[in-house]
Amino acid sequence: MKIFNTLSRQKEGFVPVNADKIGIYVCGPTVYNFIHVGNARPYVVFDTLRRFLRYKGYDVKYVQNFTDIDDKIINKANAEDTDFLNIANRYIDEFFTDIDGLNVLRADVYPRVTEEIEGIVNLISLLIDKGSAYDKNGTVYFNAHSVNNYGKLSKKNINELESGARVEVNTEKNNPSDFVLWKPAKPNEPYWGSPWSNGRPGWHIECSVMARKYIGDIVDIHAGGEDLMFPHHENEIAQSEAEKDGNFANYWMHNGMLLVDNQKMSKSADNFFLVRDVAKKFGYDVLRFFLLSVHYRSPLNYSAELLEAAANGLERIRNCRRQIEQATENHPYEDEFRASFIDALNDDLNTANAISSIFELVKFVNVALRNGESPNKAWLDDLDFMLDLLGVSDYVRNGSNDDIAVEVEELIVKRNEAKSAKNWDLADEIRGKLTTMGIVMKDTREGTKWHYDRN
Ligand code: AMP
Ligand code: ZN
Repeated sequence: MKIFNTLSRQKEGFVPVNADKIGIYVCGPTVYNFIHVGNARPYVVFDTLRRFLRYKGYDVKYVQNFTDIDDKIINKANAEDTDFLNIANRYIDEFFTDIDGLNVLRADVYPRVTEEIEGIVNLISLLIDKGSAYDKNGTVYFNAHSVNNYGKLSKKNINELESGARVEVNTEKNNPSDFVLWKPAKPNEPYWGSPWSNGRPGWHIECSVMARKYIGDIVDIHAGGEDLMFPHHENEIAQSEAEKDGNFANYWMHNGMLLVDNQKMSKSADNFFLVRDVAKKFGYDVLRFFLLSVHYRSPLNYSAELLEAAANGLERIRNCRRQIEQATENHPYEDEFRASFIDALNDDLNTANAISSIFELVKFVNVALRNGESPNKAWLDDLDFMLDLLGVSDYVRNGSNDDIAVEVEELIVKRNEAKSAKNWDLADEIRGKLTTMGIVMKDTREGTKWHYDRN
């Protein structure tokens, strides 16, 4: 498999440290709110990577952290007059609701900052001993000048970075690029004891500790959104490579941003759509399919039209599968579709091209059926293989399990029965009901097609 490695800015053949067990580390969310569609992108994309590597025979250890202490969590807890852990636990539960809905396989480990304080304090102590970190009045900073190659991931030059840096007010840092490893608690904030102050870790240090603890000295693939490349991942590299010589992670993968009107979807820009709200309208599976519809490194614009296109695409696949699902006889055929699907994923996880292979198979099957061929089990096997690998087979097999969709399907059956019985009044009445539910219908040769009118 070829992977575009952010470190080299090139596609490289993937060679694991140890072919018996691959370690993947994905930076997880700060848990103070529901996740939005942009947050969902890395989890869906790297889940698909994991499924593909498993298919290739690798045993994968998949680690994703939760940042369960941070200013935003504390602020939310204060606003609700509750403990920060209540907030963190609540939004971890809500995270799983969405991520399970999106059919993201559970990670092997979900380490949480507040449960890893000891390891974090140990690493900070070691970095101080090695001269890579210093304590100023209870705050510990990492000295970015203590490592060679600071900036090697984001391709930034430390001197240029610093000459362009804004002059920070009241900073105790020795250099503008230095960053916080440990900070003292303000009054009424939660804290943990340490040799420097009662306080809590800075953000970057947790991932350095957790990745090594749960994966080993060298992480095979370290992943996250491209907005994390600098400073978060750059700082992880600095910390971990100051701890031990050699590569911290061999391959860095970054997904492109999900945009709204060409602007990054984010909580702070207040232009976000929550995963669960979108799922209510379109279904989780449609959202997953939408997120995989372009290559993971490309930006992806969020729009109702594109989600509708994803819904229609899945529906087309589903209609095709329905016509062959009873096939029992296996006739060999040129299965170029499965091969091109695998080729696409081997090429830096190109899910867009992989999905094209699915549609080519669908087209092939529809033509064959129209020409009078009987359903072939080999087609069904190929289709299911591809859908399973992308994690969208449940929907295609069973239909959406959301209640509205079930109700709509039932009403459509009733309307068709009414039409067959020439009971036009009843048929119109049912159509009216569906319209008020926001459903748009179209009668086609293959039956009644429908979608939500999202306006
Ligand atoms: P956060 O909770 O903000 O740290 O984000 C969790 C994950 O979502 C990280 O991997 C981010 O890179 C990713 N992410 C945040 N916003 C977007 C976006 N608009 N598009 C794609 N990924 C995003
Ligand atoms: Zn991280």
